[in-house]
Order: sequence, then structure tokens, then C-alpha cells
Amino acid sequence: MEPFEKKVWLSSPTMHGDEMKWVKEAYDTNWMSTVGANINEIEKIIPEKIGCKYGVALSAGTAALHMAVKLAGVKPGDKVFCSDMTFSATVNPVTYEGGVPVFIDTEYESWNMDPVALEKAFEIYPEVKVVMVAHLYGTLGNFEKIIEIAKKHNAVVIEDAAEALGASYNGKRAGSFGDFNCISFNGNKIITGTCGGMLLTDDLETANKVRKWSTQARENAPWYQHEEIGYNYRMSNVIAGIVRGQVPYLEEHISQKKEIYERYQEGLKDLPVKMNPIPEGCTPNYWLSCMIIDKDAMEKQVRGEKEALYISEKGKSCPTEILEAISSINAEGRPIWKPMHMQPIFRNHPFVTRNGNGRARTNAYIAGSVEDIGMDIFNRGLCLPSDNKMTKEEQDRIIEVIHQCFN
Ligand SMILES: *Cc1c(COP(=O)(O)O)cnc(C)c1O
Repeated sequence: MEPFEKKVWLSSPTMHGDEMKWVKEAYDTNWMSTVGANINEIEKIIPEKIGCKYGVALSAGTAALHMAVKLAGVKPGDKVFCSDMTFSATVNPVTYEGGVPVFIDTEYESWNMDPVALEKAFEIYPEVKVVMVAHLYGTLGNFEKIIEIAKKHNAVVIEDAAEALGASYNGKRAGSFGDFNCISFNGNKIITGTCGGMLLTDDLETANKVRKWSTQARENAPWYQHEEIGYNYRMSNVIAGIVRGQVPYLEEHISQKKEIYERYQEGLKDLPVKMNPIPEGCTPNYWLSCMIIDKDAMEKQVRGEKEALYISEKGKSCPTEILEAISSINAEGRPIWKPMHMQPIFRNHPFVTRNGNGRARTNAYIAGSVEDIGMDIFNRGLCLPSDNKMTKEEQDRIIEVIHQCFN
């Protein structure tokens, strides 16, 4: 099939013009710093949109997560329950503070943290006081249940809503559930500042702490006076101008992404595949459209550390074959985020499935057990090109090339 002349991306920035107005205003008024009107404005409108009292604009979502881990009081050696199927930025900040991520397996219903496995983890490690939960691809799992379990065990919840801005569960927005909540304005997110992030909280004292820590922890004194370790994590007023220009387009981006999801769902319905699930009660932001191949339609696929092989079979396919086909027409798909417990850097960390200690079952997994739900989704699933600037015709061609894989 003819490749696209212009690459169709997984998810790329979409500018509208207003961004330049606010960037120019920052320039013209000389607020080329980490203070200014754009920062003030987004710290007002974004928490309002999400339904949280306070927001602190930071240099990245990862910086917000680091601040959250500090707020949660994680000390060296403390175990922290973490989403397993997520981007590494969710868990890296735990390790910045010397914490030890304990990975909690995923549920099929939402592709997010399995509440049953979380309950199991509290049985095994009752001392744990912090739970770090990400919303994968813009979909929320049963977050009320996750919060309920955490509260029962007196644990603090950090919500990584980096991928889920604008999504909600039972009418409550992502970024308003946890004790400390984080969003991201990275270039591939649903709205962007090229980079940037925000910490959200309902507690003024918490917001003030983050303001202080993120600007080198200066005390209120005539000279540079320090009682705590500080960070240079504040957002630039220029970046905030881009974010400010993007905020009014959040809903538009979500509806475009929703159309993309629904077109894939319709276009792929005759194949032995399913779209990423939308659990009851969740209104996703449809950031990425994904698919998963039915078990009996999977051809043999072997993934090493950095390479993959597969054997073509009639009527079947595998993520490797489909990703190659998508790439062959100059479009960008991506494997499902490889679970953290399988990352070489975290391989010695505990991993808890709904049946208990998942590490004890590694051999069973190799023998073909699907107890390790995260790895099963990784093996059978993939992220589809989900750029909101993709045309219907381009998407039809991608759908067609996926069909060819099953011939
Ligand atoms: C993008 C992302 C982050 C990190 O955000 P940055 O702004 O790039 O630092 C954190 N967690 C998840 C789940 C993400 O997808």
C-alpha cells in the first residue's frame, strides 16, 4: 500500500493560534521568567476545570510527581504501591526519594491498577502508606474502589493523571481524586505547553509547600536562607502562555480523539480484536486508541529485550506484525507500555497479582499462564495512530492495512 506522504503520528501537538498571543504578551511585557500572568491564569483555570482547589505549575509532570512523593513523606527504603502498566515517569520519582516501588498488576476491565491485587498487596505489605496510581491512555479504572482500599489502610493516594486530563469517573474529573494529583503538558499529551506539568491539591498548605520547594526552598528572610532542600521545578511564563492558549481546546481535542476511537471500533469490528476497554462509569479523554488481539487469533510472537520475532499465520496476527504494517505506510503506532515489573531496572522489585506474589509465579507465566495480566495485555495489545489531525481517509487506510495482517 502507498505510504502517506506526511507521517501520521501517534499523538502530536495541535496548536490553534491563541498560544502565540500569550507567549507574545509575556515577551512584550518582559515577564520572561518563572513568574507572570500566564502562570497565574493557568493556576486558576486548570484547577477550576478539574475541580480541585489549588494548582502549582511546574516544569514537567515528572517534577509534579516528585513533589507528590515528597509530600507523601516517602523515605529511603519505604515501599510504595505503584501502577505496573504505565510509563516509567510514574515510578521514577518514587526512587528519587529512595522509595521502593512495589508493582500492582493490571485488570482487564480498565487496563489500570487491579483493586483486587491492591487489596492483596496490603495483606502482604500492611506497612505501606503510599499508593501511586496512573490512568492509562486517558481511561480511569474503578478509582473510587482504589481510594476506598487505600483509605482503609490509612494510605495516601498520588494520582498520576498525566495521560487523562479531561477524563472523569462518575462525573468526577481525573486529577481530583487523590491526595496529591499530577498532570502533564508534555508534547504528546491531549493539550501541551511543549513541556510542563501541574500539581493539584485541595489543601492550601500543600500548594504553598510545593511553591516553596520548586523555587529552591527559600525561607522568608532578607537573604537566601534555607532550612530545606529545594528544586528548580517552576514552570516558565512562556510555557504557561502556550498552555493557557491550549486550555480552551481541551474539549475539542477530546471529541476528535473520541471520533478516532469510534472509527477504529467500527472499522475493526469484523476482526478478532477489541479496543481498549471503557469501564462503566468512566468517560475517557480517548488520548490513545488501542487494540488487543483475541487469544486464539494470536500468531506466535517472541519478544527479547530489544527485538521481536513472529511467524505469520493465516487468519491471525500479532502486535509486531501490525506495528510493522502501520510503520510501512508511514504511520506511527506503539507497543503497549511494557509493564514496570518486566523492566530490567525494576526486575528485583516485588510484583503483586490478584493471586499474591507474582514473582513466585514467573515460571507459571512462562509456561503460558495468563495470571500476569499486564504482560498478557502487553503481548497482545498495541497503541494505534491517534493523532487528532489524522484525516478519515488516512485512518481508513490504517484500518485496511490492519485487515491485511489477518489475511
Ligand atoms: C507523560 C507522562 C508522565 C510524565 O510527564 P512529563 O510532563 O513528560 O514529565 C508521567 N506519567 C505518565 C503516565 C505519563 O504518560
